[in-house]
Amino acid sequence: MIEDFPQFEALPVRPEEIGDKEIWQPSWKCFCCQDTGKVQNHLVKLVIPDYDYDRDRLPICQLCGEGDKLYHLTEFGVIDTRFETLLCKKLDTLARKEWSKATQEQFAIAKKKVQLATDETAKSHSLRRSDRTHNDNREVQQRKAEIEAISSHKWEQMREEYLGVEND
Ligand SMILES: [Zn+2]
Repeated sequence: MIEDFPQFEALPVRPEEIGDKEIWQPSWKCFCCQDTGKVQNHLVKLVIPDYDYDRDRLPICQLCGEGDKLYHLTEFGVIDTRFETLLCKKLDTLARKEWSKATQEQFAIAKKKVQLATDETAKSHSLRRSDRTHNDNREVQQRKAEIEAISSHKWEQMREEYLGVEND
């Protein structure tokens, strides 16, 4: 059972290998309470099916230490201390899997969007480029044809006009 092992974060030697996936890292360390000290609502419901956030005591996380900060509320009868370390660990592992699955789906969607956008951009760029090349070529051919069409007599005329030389 995976719950029996401690779960460590991966420690890549070269950080750049995390790549784009880094943006999907959550801001919290503990998946049981998301560093709030209070066990996440949807996780509580796995253990207390008819749990009512507004009515019932708050189950506190005993996995990460954030819950310790709420422990002093025990005397007011507003917290639930039955979620012991092992239970919190199981909930943490489950939430971690859910997160990973959800982010991988999100990542795949985002990646696909980026790929589509890139394809579109590349397509429009290459379209523009081939248009331009086509036009450029046509213009060059046209200029060449115009130049070739000029007779030697015409050349002479043009030269004289340009130089301001008058024929005697
Ligand atoms: Zn926690």
